[in-house]
Formats: sequence, structure tokens, C-alpha cells
Amino acid sequence: MRPGVLECHLPHQIERLTPPKTIRCHLRLIEDVSPRGTTGHRCHYTVMKVIFLDIDGVLNSDVTPNPRKFPYIVDGQLLARFQELVTKTGANVVLSSTWRVDPVGLLAAKFYKVPFHDMCPDMPGAPRCEEVQTWLREHQEVTRYVVLDDDNDCLDELPLFQPSSRTGLTAAIASGIEDFLAGRSDKDMCANALVRLGQNIHSLFGRDKR
Ligand SMILES: [Mg+2]
Repeated sequence: MRPGVLECHLPHQIERLTPPKTIRCHLRLIEDVSPRGTTGHRCHYTVMKVIFLDIDGVLNSDVTPNPRKFPYIVDGQLLARFQELVTKTGANVVLSSTWRVDPVGLLAAKFYKVPFHDMCPDMPGAPRCEEVQTWLREHQEVTRYVVLDDDNDCLDELPLFQPSSRTGLTAAIASGIEDFLAGRSDKDMCANALVRLGQNIHSLFGRDKR
């Protein structure tokens, strides 16, 4: 969470600064500085960016070497790309992956040094989007967030960045997330319908992992 000071004028500029939809600014009026006789105010603001992280199909892919068939595996190259993304964006990472609900999976995530600060609540039977939204409701301080997931478990309503499980996190998707979290873009990156159809067929014959 990064604090800062924002100069603004009340009340109309506060309203103008309030961003739409997926962006929520956390503004707190602290003093009336009345600069040069105007009606200016100084506001404190905090910026909290969040990445909801799925692991299977994001930090590993169909081509990640796994000769011993470990149930939990991370691809070093994809992990390095994600770690760089976290450093560049300063985002907090909230684990949405099913790894979080298995003690062995959680241990594996820590073993591989997957960076994360918190986890979504486990809501058996509920789609992943509900787990994400529940976490968000309890963290009103979040200003901007993305969902990084190869699946689209009703996540289309959210800013979804969706790599293919065949590749995991790509440089293009990492760059898209960076732009989105920095406010330079409002475009998410969902797989198109054709790719999804291919992925669904592929998953019928592949691993049963979310
Ligand atoms: Mg997945």
C-alpha cells in the first residue's frame, strides 16, 4: 500500500477524480489548505493494487518439465516473469488458486517462493469470481486489481488477464497487467471464444486442474 498526497478542490473535483467501475480511489480529506485564497483542499490517498493469482496454467504450463509427475509444480521462467511483474507494479498478490485449499499445495507455493500476501476465502461450490468478490468486499482499500487466471470461472465480469495453459504467463500479458494497474489502460486480456473452446476440449483430455 503506497500513501501519497493529492491536491484537489471540493466538492466537484473529488467527484471527477472518482474513477469508474473497477477502480476505487480511497480519498480522505485531511485539511483545508486554501491555497492562494482558493477553496482548495489537500487529500491523503492510498493506492493498493492487487493481483488475484491462479497458479496452474499461469505459473506452470503444459510444457513445464515434470518428470516425476508432482501434483504441484512451478515453472522457474514463468515464476521469474511473475516476480518481476510484482516488483514493477508494487501490487499485493492474493492467491485464488486451488493450491491454497490443500496444505500440501500451500507448502509447495511457499517452497517455490511464489509471492503472495493473502488468500481468497474458500467457498466450496461457489465459482471463483464469488471468492474474489468476497475478498474485495472485505478490502475496500483496494484501488485497482486484476485477475490472472487461465480459466474463466465466471470471471469475465472482472478485469481478467487470461493466459493459455499451453504457455502460462506470457510477456505480453505481464505487460498488459502492468499497464492496467498503472492506469495507462483499461483493457483486460481474455482469451477469445475460439481459444476457449480449444482449451475446454484440451482440458477434457488433460489434467483436472483449475
Ligand atoms: Mg488454472
